[in-house]
Amino acid sequence: MFMARVLVYIYTKVMKNSKKIIVLIITAVVIVTVGVAVFVLRSPKDGPARVVTNPDSGPNNDANNAQRPAASSTVVTLRPGLVIDRGVHDTSNPADLWVLVSKTRPLTDTGYTPAIALPGVKVRTDKSKEEQSVGTAIVADTQALFAAAVTAGYDFMLSSGYRSSTLQQTYYSNYVAQSGEQAANKFSAKPGQSEHQTGLAFDMNLADKQCYLDTCLGDLPAGKWLAAHAHAYGFIIRYPLGKEDITGYQYEPWHVRYVGAELAKALYESGLTLDEAVALIDAVPAATR
Ligand SMILES: [Zn+2]
Repeated sequence: MFMARVLVYIYTKVMKNSKKIIVLIITAVVIVTVGVAVFVLRSPKDGPARVVTNPDSGPNNDANNAQRPAASSTVVTLRPGLVIDRGVHDTSNPADLWVLVSKTRPLTDTGYTPAIALPGVKVRTDKSKEEQSVGTAIVADTQALFAAAVTAGYDFMLSSGYRSSTLQQTYYSNYVAQSGEQAANKFSAKPGQSEHQTGLAFDMNLADKQCYLDTCLGDLPAGKWLAAHAHAYGFIIRYPLGKEDITGYQYEPWHVRYVGAELAKALYESGLTLDEAVALIDAVPAATR
C-alpha cells in the first residue's frame, strides 16, 4: 500500500532525527483523517422509505430483475422480478391504504369511522349520503377512475361506498333473512369484516343496472375495462374469479378496493389477491424511521 511505504520511508529517514516523534504524530494524524474521509464519502445515504415497483417489470423481464440484489430488508418479492417496499405500512391499521379486512382479519377497532366525503361521481341516488361517500383519502382517485371510464365510453355509478358498522349489520341481517346464513356469508360480511367500513372500497356498477351485483358484469366490455384499468388509478378488483377460497368471498367484479397505485399495479401484475400479498408483506418487518 502506498501510504504504508510513505510511512516506512519517513520513519527510516527520521529515526536518528531529534524531531522523529513529532513527524510520526503528524503522519499518523494525516492517515487517520484520510481514512475517516474515505469512509464517510463511501457510506450509503438513507433515503425516505417508499413504495417501489420495478418500473420495467413485466412478463419478459423476470430474468433481468431476478438478478437484482435486494435493496433493503423491507423489500417484499411478490413474485420473481416484482418487488415492493413494505416501508411503514401497517396492514392492521384501518386508516392505512394497505389494511387487510376480511373474515379472518376483522377490524380491530370496531368503532372505527373514517373521514368521508361525496366523491362527485355518478351515484345510486336512493342510497344515503353516507353510503354515497368514500374515504376522503381516495376521493381524487375515485374521480379519476370514473372520469377515465366515461372517456372509455362506460357509464358507471357508485352504488355503495362507505358503510357504518350499523348499516353493515342491517345488510347482513337482511341477506341472512332472505337466503340463510350459509349463503349470506358468501357475498355479505358481518360488521367488522367489511372493507366498506374503512371508506377504502366501493361497489361500482353500470348506471343502467345491467348485471347489477351480478358476476356477468365481468363479461361485459365495461367490466373488462374496469378489471384492466382500475390499477392505474390505485384500485383492485378485490374478490377475483377463482380466488374464492383465498378471499372468502364469491367473485365480485363490481367491488373495487383502493390500495394506492404502486400496490395496485403490483397486485395486477402478480395476479395475487390482497390477502396473499399481505401475508408476504407482514412477514417482513416494517421500516423504521
Ligand atoms: Zn362491495
